[in-house]
Amino acid sequence: MYWEKEIETISRKNLEALQLERLRKSVKNASASYHYKNLFETIGVDPEKISSLDDIKKIPFTNKEDLRENWPYGFLAVSKDELVRMHSSSGTTGRATIIFHTQHDLDEWTNIVARSMYMTGMRRGDVFQNMMTYGLFTGGLGFHYGAEKVGALIIPAGSGNSKRQIQLMQDFQTTVIHIIPSYALHLSTVFEELGIDPRRDTNLGIAFLGAEPHSEKTRQKIEDFYGVNAFNSYGLSEMNGPGVSFECQYKNGMHIWEDNYIVEIIDPDTLEPVPDGEEGELVLTTLLREGMPILRYRTKDLTRIIPGPCECGRTHRRIERIKGRTDDMLVLKGVNIFPIQIEKILMDIEGVGTNYQIILERKDYNDHMIVKVEVHKEFFSGDLKQLETLRRAITEELKSDILITPRVELVEPNALPKSEGKAVRVIDNRED
Ligand code: AMP
Ligand code: ZN
Repeated sequence: MYWEKEIETISRKNLEALQLERLRKSVKNASASYHYKNLFETIGVDPEKISSLDDIKKIPFTNKEDLRENWPYGFLAVSKDELVRMHSSSGTTGRATIIFHTQHDLDEWTNIVARSMYMTGMRRGDVFQNMMTYGLFTGGLGFHYGAEKVGALIIPAGSGNSKRQIQLMQDFQTTVIHIIPSYALHLSTVFEELGIDPRRDTNLGIAFLGAEPHSEKTRQKIEDFYGVNAFNSYGLSEMNGPGVSFECQYKNGMHIWEDNYIVEIIDPDTLEPVPDGEEGELVLTTLLREGMPILRYRTKDLTRIIPGPCECGRTHRRIERIKGRTDDMLVLKGVNIFPIQIEKILMDIEGVGTNYQIILERKDYNDHMIVKVEVHKEFFSGDLKQLETLRRAITEELKSDILITPRVELVEPNALPKSEGKAVRVIDNRED
């Protein structure tokens, strides 16, 4: 059941001792980089003086802007010839951040991905179809090497090409898939078009869902349609990529591998720590990365620590499903809304299909939200009364949760643009 029992079930006391030892090393190592060397000199941090985990607070946070300003080599703590791979974030705004790895870094990363997969029940003998983009994005190669370490047969399918994905699943009896949740929903419509029922016609048993926020309801939809056990997988390129945090069989939050990362949750406005259990921004520190250590990285992802131990016996704490990024928050007529809130409501309504889009507009100094929703084909044939009833019902449901009244437009299946990577949920046409 455990990939590395000793480390996964280590006592909190020993885990903290291990973290401190690794933190000291990591800070010292980081001070070899241009960025941290200057920073430590400017504010007077002495890496030798980190003597408790609490001392991490002496180090300022690292932001995405710091990574950008020091692009590309300003965070390197080793000489360039020790590097063996680079990856980048999939950010669409500004310059993508680049992360460099030494062989040691890749080995450690691979190990936590393998640990995560093993935790869900994946084993040697499984056939693993990785439906993520291979390349600079970490979801491809990150999972690939983890699966190889577990000993599964890998089908490095990459993203897109839905019919071929389905063909591969059938021909080679895929048992485990790694897929972006919005794409999993889209792929279900292709299965339906082809008259193939994954429960009956494939051997699928496990799905890893990651790379974008998704609701519990979306997970259930995917589990029902594919007949799989679906596990939430969280990571970000700045912290390697996948393998940072993953659900165990109890699916009650994601264990975050604290032998590899120090976890803090802060209030994004005051930057003060919030108590366990309260929501805030996740801040992470790499403990084992040599090539490009990053200290107190502000992920912008909102979550909370789930207090208390997990039934699985692992002692690494759990974070809740990510609510969204601080910069994903929509502010409309003074109301704060996360796209995931809208998804949660939509996916719970009978008749709603697999895709939706939020469009923001400004007219006469007034902000408006338009929510386009794909609904089942039947609504568009014959009497359109039912379509109108559904439209009203959706509007009401949304209004009662987000407190503003969106204009809801219902469209036929596959009418909305779909993406092979992370879904683009919000189009903001408001001008500043
Ligand atoms: P990347 O730039 O590709 O490394 O993207 C990392 C970001 O994707 C994270 O900071 C999150 O905002 C998002 N992300 C990754 N996995 C998940 C997940 N399981 N749930 C929600 N958001 C996720
Ligand atoms: Zn657990």
